[in-house]
Amino acid sequence: MTTQEKLSASVMGTYGRFPVVLEEGKDNVCRDENGKSYIDFGSGIGTSSLGYCNDAWTEAVCTQAKKLQHTSNLYYTKVQADCAEAICKATGYSKLFYCNSGAESNECAIKLARKYSFDKYGKGRHTIITLVNSFHGRTMCTLSATGQDVFHNYFFPFVEGFRYAEANNIEDLKSKIDDTVCAVMMEYVQGEGGVNALSQEFVDAVYEMCGEKDILVIADEVQTGVGRTGTLLAGEQFGHKADVTTLAKGIAGGLPMGACLANEKCAEVLDKGSHGSTFGGNPVCCAAAMAVLKTVTADGFLSEVQAKAKYIREKLSAIKGVKSVSGLGLMIGVELEEKAALDVVNAALEKGLLVLTAKTKVRLLPPLNITYDEIDKGLEILKSIIEG
Ligand SMILES: *Cc1c(COP(=O)(O)O)cnc(C)c1O
Repeated sequence: MTTQEKLSASVMGTYGRFPVVLEEGKDNVCRDENGKSYIDFGSGIGTSSLGYCNDAWTEAVCTQAKKLQHTSNLYYTKVQADCAEAICKATGYSKLFYCNSGAESNECAIKLARKYSFDKYGKGRHTIITLVNSFHGRTMCTLSATGQDVFHNYFFPFVEGFRYAEANNIEDLKSKIDDTVCAVMMEYVQGEGGVNALSQEFVDAVYEMCGEKDILVIADEVQTGVGRTGTLLAGEQFGHKADVTTLAKGIAGGLPMGACLANEKCAEVLDKGSHGSTFGGNPVCCAAAMAVLKTVTADGFLSEVQAKAKYIREKLSAIKGVKSVSGLGLMIGVELEEKAALDVVNAALEKGLLVLTAKTKVRLLPPLNITYDEIDKGLEILKSIIEG
């Protein structure tokens, strides 16, 4: 039996997988079971932010794994404390809650917003406004929060209390806000929804409307966070800091970790017994996250991310057959004139390049530390496919 047959026999068929068995990787290149190598322009799905088995990351993970792999949250560990301090210091948030994924991070934010409002105003102020075309996760609650009809099937009944406003439509948002609303949750750049950035005007309006009514702003930075867009948080580029920011994907360089960050106003809302996670703040994941954070916040690293993003975007825009290039920083959407995104992904795979799709676009989320040499090689492959 091949690995593909074996896996399909025992793992539920929830994913459309490409016919490749990946075996090992180093930095920005991985190899399959036949020894064929691939340049990675996807980083998992924006998770392996420093590429495969980065030296500093591997060292941090292995050292911690040999020392203490887990304790429950009934006890303290230094690495968990150090990591939280480092994240809060770097992002300017007061406190965080540790979990293991993006969906869990958003679940935490939703619970926090509802309790913040309940504590202050009592029952009934529980509605969360999210945006059409958003993606917030696969659990029942975060599916309900996700503003795409395709996700609202089979699993009825969904969680109540979500309302969807059109992205970049200030009037629509205004019409959805009433006295039952406790939070607005948004991605600065909608990732799964097609790599579309919100407009500055819309983001400004969200903060203004929410500020007036003590409605919390939740920024889902699960995909945009930890340097992906060229700043540590994408919110910095819009000149705003959300009351609550959720992180996951790239935060621990490919190990499962999520964090829900809260500002001073709501850092004490989730108190003893109101929330929890068995694996949250796992020591090995914390060590990994600290290695990522140390790299990403080092002098000049993020300006280098911005320079590479600019370089890639210019080169992509010059390819015949590319209609537009969207997103922010190294979160890149490529709209094609004629070719279908999935055909491009398959052709790229054939030629040794891993890329992703988002709706009808080709999506690139290269490792933040990708080299110009690999950028050039990868772009050459993409160009040959799109122009070919
Ligand atoms: C991927 C993603 C999620 C879900 O993260 P999981 O780790 O798969 O639960 C939530 N929000 C955004 C913006 C994402 O990109």
